[in-house]
Amino acid sequence: MEFQNTREFAQQLDAQDELFKYRDEFHFPSINGKNVIYFTGNSLGLQPKRTKTYVDEVMNDWARLAVEGHFYADKPWWDYHERFAIPLSEIVGAKPSEITVMNTLTVNLHLMMVSFYQPTEKKYKIICEEKAFPSDQYMFQSQVKFHGFNPSDAIIEIKRREGEHNIRHEDILAKIEEVGDELALVLIGGVNYYTGQVFDIKTITQAAQKTGAFVGWDLAHAAGNIELQLHDWCVDFACWCSYKYMNSGPGNVSGCFIHEKHHGDFELQRFAGWWGHNKERRFKMEPHFEPEYGANGWQISNLPILSLAPYLASAEMFAEVGMTKLVKKRNLLTAYLEFILHEIDEEIDGTEFEIITPQNQEERACQLSVYFHGQGKTLFDYLMVNGVITDWREPNVIRLAPAPFYCSFEDMYEFGQILKKGISK
Ligand SMILES: *Cc1c(COP(=O)(O)O)cnc(C)c1O
Repeated sequence: MEFQNTREFAQQLDAQDELFKYRDEFHFPSINGKNVIYFTGNSLGLQPKRTKTYVDEVMNDWARLAVEGHFYADKPWWDYHERFAIPLSEIVGAKPSEITVMNTLTVNLHLMMVSFYQPTEKKYKIICEEKAFPSDQYMFQSQVKFHGFNPSDAIIEIKRREGEHNIRHEDILAKIEEVGDELALVLIGGVNYYTGQVFDIKTITQAAQKTGAFVGWDLAHAAGNIELQLHDWCVDFACWCSYKYMNSGPGNVSGCFIHEKHHGDFELQRFAGWWGHNKERRFKMEPHFEPEYGANGWQISNLPILSLAPYLASAEMFAEVGMTKLVKKRNLLTAYLEFILHEIDEEIDGTEFEIITPQNQEERACQLSVYFHGQGKTLFDYLMVNGVITDWREPNVIRLAPAPFYCSFEDMYEFGQILKKGISK
């Protein structure tokens, strides 16, 4: 498609967009009396209007029924988490039994490492990406030390090549082969939080499993953003937070995938709690733990229903639209944003910034990370007071995520105009 940097052209794309109507289903913050242009759905998604109904329902059931709500609420609390199995399995390409929702992301990754990182003297190394999300780095270091190994020896980061912004797939595959028998676990972010690079989950998973390692994925920036087939790709486990693209609210619960092939392995270590116990006998208070079959057998605690309610509202919204439509709009919207950025850069002098996210559509999703050569932070502040919420990362990067659920093509055009004024100032 030939793009044009005009308001009319952007409005025409909005008119053809079958997801345009969903914009009205979200609450937008406003600045100077106008709805903001929101580029930080990769950090905290907007609140869907239907969420409040789901939360009110729990509040009302609690008021009306108190403890009886566990069994007699409209959506009973004792197995409320099972309502996620169908919608989330569609979103991440899983079987319903492979899905559970519990805790928060880093906590779940730790719990998954209890099962899938059991190092021995010979097989103890972890491969991750260079500059992984800080929480993941702290997690790796503490896990490795917990098992008595030295982080500088046991943690292997795949590096970017000198002068390049993204990690090459061939370098990941080569490193997996090099570490070989010593490799215990590969755990990488499916979409890099800083550059927006999308990794080839299927190929990397296969290659690492050939060495006998387990493979897990941190899908914080991938769930609700890219098409996933976790079951078919034979991923051992994956976890994601729900508050980024999935719009479930600040700090909210984490989704968790555990492949079916592990469900019958009751020898696999896991940290147990009563919510993972055989469902029919959970309240019999038996002394011996017998895990529920499936991902729910990794549950530990009585679930935070007031946190699950907003996530259920948004998970159902995602399932209603489906990833195929979201991905189709995402690609067009991101390509349009990329076009606008290049147009504005050229209209100024062509040297203001560069996009460090891969150009190739297969290797990127919703996010474009823009490296500013000049006054990045001043520009970020300028955008904010002018109604554009973006995200700032040291040393000089502004991340832009035009979430397809609620961002419009006209937003992209409008952003370009504001950006141009900001740079020309
Ligand atoms: C956002 C994010 C997290 C956050 O984890 P919490 O435990 O929910 O705070 C972890 N890992 C990655 C890659 C992230 O992008």
